[in-house]
Amino acid sequence: MTNLLDFDLAGMTEYLVSQGEKPFRAKQLLRWIHHFGESDFANMTDIAKVTREKLGKVTCITPPALVAEQASEDGTRKWALNVGQAGAIETVFIPEDDRGTLCVSSQVGCALECTFCSTGRQGFNRNLTVAEIIGQVWWANKSLGRDPKGERIISNVVMMGMGEPLANYDNVVTAMRLMLDDHAYGLSRRRVTLSTSGIVPAMDRLREDCPVALAVSLHAPNDALRDEIVPINKKYPLAQLMEACRRYLEKAPRDFITFEYVMLDGVNDTDEHARQLIALVKDVPCKFNLIPFNPFPNSGYARSKPEQLKRFRQRLIDAGFVVTVRRTRGDDIDAACGQLAGQVMDKTQRQIKWQQLQKDE
Ligand code: SAH
Ligand code: SF4
Repeated sequence: MTNLLDFDLAGMTEYLVSQGEKPFRAKQLLRWIHHFGESDFANMTDIAKVTREKLGKVTCITPPALVAEQASEDGTRKWALNVGQAGAIETVFIPEDDRGTLCVSSQVGCALECTFCSTGRQGFNRNLTVAEIIGQVWWANKSLGRDPKGERIISNVVMMGMGEPLANYDNVVTAMRLMLDDHAYGLSRRRVTLSTSGIVPAMDRLREDCPVALAVSLHAPNDALRDEIVPINKKYPLAQLMEACRRYLEKAPRDFITFEYVMLDGVNDTDEHARQLIALVKDVPCKFNLIPFNPFPNSGYARSKPEQLKRFRQRLIDAGFVVTVRRTRGDDIDAACGQLAGQVMDKTQRQIKWQQLQKDE
């Protein structure tokens, strides 16, 4: 069975033509599936019955199965979706006064091993398919619906859930094309943000293929520290990363990069780190998003002290930067940044090794 949730407009058109159907049916189908959240061909009333019956025999509209839905006291919502043998993935919706942001996962686990990240600690299982990535938006959109004015509740998407989106490039780009397509979710490029730990060649491809707002997980102001806590830095060190950010901005829908910086007590939050950080980004138009570290068992890190966070933030502000501090949301349902663990069946067995290590210590 071909799952129609795997196709963006180009893919859907190509598939339908290969089945002897008219190309314009692709837009109709996208509208039914994504805009109206329909998964039953029988309800697609403006498509001829014979066509619907034929599609029903060879194709399906199958999102990952919903296994749990939770709501936090602060309005944050979380959905857990079953992705078969690989385990479960999580999607989070964060309501704010002026927007509603959905945080989407791109992989089951992550292979990049950032030391402060619970997903990274669990190891990697596999890439999500397009249907599994866009399926998160599909479920959340269906469940949240529209506000009284008829506007979609989901106004923004951030690729900041589990996984490194640029390590699952093709599927993530296809899913983002659906987020941007007026026949599907119709979001503007400025309202879809991809967060990467800095895979430089893929940043260059993204700039050409599907430029969306970009957030870069910086977390350290010098190579020695970043090599340690964001190990992909050994492959693409800071000088290369800064150059890639500048190139990206040539085609980006926003005129700045957002640098994410997790605040780790005593590790990357001193005055000297702030000074180095200011020097590092001097040629890159950017904003900073400071993320108080979200602890998880055996992480070995602590959240920066509130006074230190304030001081660090003020140093950046004094240097002329716009700085936001990410509010921790959905704490009570483990929905905060870096806590999305799902249930990764780790193919690399790293999780087991990690637990043994803890025992041995
Ligand atoms: N893999 C991508 C996107 C997913 S993580 C990336 O690394 O950018 C989204 C953000 O949460 C990243 O900036 C990531 O570094 C940060 N993060 C990871 N673990 C965290 C934790 N325990 N506390 C706070 N932020 C964390
Ligand atoms: Fe992967 Fe991002 Fe976590 Fe690093 S921070 S391990 S890249 S999910």
